[in-house]
Amino acid sequence: MFKNFIAGEWLDGARVSRNINPSDTRDLVGEYAQADAAQARLAVASAEAAFPAWSMSTPQQRFDILDAVGSEILARRTEIGDLLAREEGKTLPEAVGEVTRAGHIFKFFAGEALRPGGELLPSVRPGVGVEITREALGVIAIITPWNFPIAIPAWKIAPALAYGNCVVFKPADLVPGSAWALAEILSRSGLPQGVFNLVMGRGSEVGTVLLEDARVSAVTFTGSVGTGQKVAAACVARMAKFQLEMGGKNPLIVLDDADLDVAVNCAVQSGFYSTGQRCTASSRVIVSEGLQQRFVAAMVEKMKALKVGNARQIGIDIGPVVDQTQLNQDLDYVRIAQQEGASLAFGGEALAENEQGQPGFYLRPALITETSPEMRINREEVFGPVVSVQTARDYEHALALANDTPFGLAAGIVTRSLKHATHFKRHSQAGMVMVNLPTAGVDYHVPFGGRKGSSYGSREQGRYAAEFYTVVKTAYTLP
Ligand code: NAD
Repeated sequence: MFKNFIAGEWLDGARVSRNINPSDTRDLVGEYAQADAAQARLAVASAEAAFPAWSMSTPQQRFDILDAVGSEILARRTEIGDLLAREEGKTLPEAVGEVTRAGHIFKFFAGEALRPGGELLPSVRPGVGVEITREALGVIAIITPWNFPIAIPAWKIAPALAYGNCVVFKPADLVPGSAWALAEILSRSGLPQGVFNLVMGRGSEVGTVLLEDARVSAVTFTGSVGTGQKVAAACVARMAKFQLEMGGKNPLIVLDDADLDVAVNCAVQSGFYSTGQRCTASSRVIVSEGLQQRFVAAMVEKMKALKVGNARQIGIDIGPVVDQTQLNQDLDYVRIAQQEGASLAFGGEALAENEQGQPGFYLRPALITETSPEMRINREEVFGPVVSVQTARDYEHALALANDTPFGLAAGIVTRSLKHATHFKRHSQAGMVMVNLPTAGVDYHVPFGGRKGSSYGSREQGRYAAEFYTVVKTAYTLP
């Protein structure tokens, strides 16, 4: 049984949740303790008690701890990557890549602990000096989704600690294993008791406590729009700081002048890899008329060669969907698209087992053509390996279609035209814009985040993370 880490101790939970391997549902990854409301409150109390000392810890102390955590993650990337592939279903290379990313993030924020910065200005009044500095906020609640079970926790926990905050971390109930592995490393890292707490459990129970407890200064959340709205309402009600990263309906434009291979690679990689379960996945490809037929034909050829199977097996391109509920949602959207008049050009069928006869949540990636902008397949997040194709008359039409969405996380364009690429970077309404690159796939040292219905609050990652995890102080001195 994998326990919760609260006030420096490993504690049993009120219940147990079973973590099942989606590539082979006969395989139990482990049993994980589920905290209840009282344990969540205990975690908040211990984080609050640890804050005064930790917020005054030296940059060297924070650097040493975060750097060592990053080193251990990197040294164990194959082992933890295998666990991640086993519990979440992304392929082993993708999973090892995600763990590596988590290690790099800890290293980056170890460095940031040494570079707090500040500003020194002359006052408008004679003889007075003005200092602008950043200070830690207090207790940060971190609530994360299942699709990046170690990278997203890392990009929230590392900056929270680097800037001197204490943490209560609630991972997704569906995929707690890699989060637990990260917590175990943190538990041995030399952090004082109570600075970091792990509370696995239900969103409706543990999550609600974290949103409502007045001792929690700020909440950082990544997940669905519906839950994000609940987080926002609860935080506004008690005026706590919050940050939300939510869904996407990310467009990839392919213009007539595009290199067809580049276009197909971008669409396949960001549409179907990680089983399409990425907030930055390209779920809409907007192709200009002249290239449409050749593009769809090339996509279908490429998709025929994709191997769907056990995420931990060498040579597999697409692992399973994370669970039965998500698989049902993916299949529903394939059906709804056809009912609304679209065509299924390829895939879209569930496979009860893989080539080895292992039962899992397998789905052949789906390409849906002849869609129009108002169809649900072009408006709502599916969160699976399902890509729709829209047709554009020209670049201006493609841009309008790309921006015609309530979301605004990532957007891409494949073109050889500098003019159109430059215009798109400026006029796309997404937070992250890619030219001749997949929409999924970002760096860890630069800001990450979206606009419109995808995000709320300041950016995550890179130096911009300081905006959320610190509060600014202005001090005046007359010597
Ligand atoms: P979810 O909203 O169901 O759950 C996210 C987290 O919130 C989980 O830990 C869950 O237990 C918790 N939660 C649920 N109800 C809660 C409540 N009432 N109070 C407090 N916490 C609660 O999302 P999910 O299904 O785990 O993740 C998939 C979603 O995440 C997709 O919409 C995807 O686009 C989004 N996502 C966004 C980004 C981004 O950076 N924009 C990155 C990854 C995933």
